[in-house]
Amino acid sequence: MTFCTRFAPSPTGPLHLGHAYSALLAFDMAQAHDGTFLLRIEDTDTVRARPAWEDLIYADLAWLGITWAEPVLRQSEHLQRYNDVLMSLAARGLIYPCSCSRSDIRAALSAPQEGVTPPPVYPGTCRHRSMSDRKPGDALRLNVSAALETVQLPIEFDEMGICAKNMPTFDAPYFTRQIGDAVLGRKEIETVSYVLAAVIDDAAQNITHVIRGADLFDTTPLQVLLQELLSLPTPIYVHHRLIRDDAGKRLAKRDDARAISYYRAQNLYPKDIRAMTGI
Ligand code: GLU
Repeated sequence: MTFCTRFAPSPTGPLHLGHAYSALLAFDMAQAHDGTFLLRIEDTDTVRARPAWEDLIYADLAWLGITWAEPVLRQSEHLQRYNDVLMSLAARGLIYPCSCSRSDIRAALSAPQEGVTPPPVYPGTCRHRSMSDRKPGDALRLNVSAALETVQLPIEFDEMGICAKNMPTFDAPYFTRQIGDAVLGRKEIETVSYVLAAVIDDAAQNITHVIRGADLFDTTPLQVLLQELLSLPTPIYVHHRLIRDDAGKRLAKRDDARAISYYRAQNLYPKDIRAMTGI
């Protein structure tokens, strides 16, 4: 098995220190294992993705001294491939159309207890609907209970990062109570959600190690469930610590003060970025 990892940014804003940390960690690990480092542009969010942000990603990574094997996979060029997978799940009766808005979902959830945020689990309002009744603007949801009947439980994966301690058991109640019927096809026709596109491409690109921030750990059980449903291999996951701002908050795309392009403009060096991220 040749070590192969990827950095998979969404071009919806400038890369910041947290992205630099993730990309450098993955790049260094690939080098150390004599493996391959790939760049994947996750631009299925056609509303927020911008070519200018994508160009900045290439420039920032090159400035950091990161090189990647060509070609770069741009997800917007593969929507048909993702849609084919969605339709294969539809043919197995595992997805259904959903027209609920965020406020419909909130209203259908039982009244929240004081001080307790209700889990964001979809209450299943549209679960009775069939694909033949799909209307433009409907999202497509996974019928998670039906999906769980077709796989071996509990769902398991190898975690080599900071989340390895205290891994919960990903059994049927975990999925029905904490994940629910996840959206796999978004409201925009023929646009898949990030969770599914990433699973399809991790397999298509023979990724052996997914190295990414711990904020994506909670997405992993669903992604592994999708791998099981689609008979795709499960990579090893390495969830790393998050780079936080001075107040301890996770960096967001709008944190321009920590954008790599800002540090470049300040004439800092890539070694300064490595030092700032603790690499
Ligand atoms: N595109 C995702 C993001 O920018 C990363 C997905 C992943 O690494 O699996 O947050």
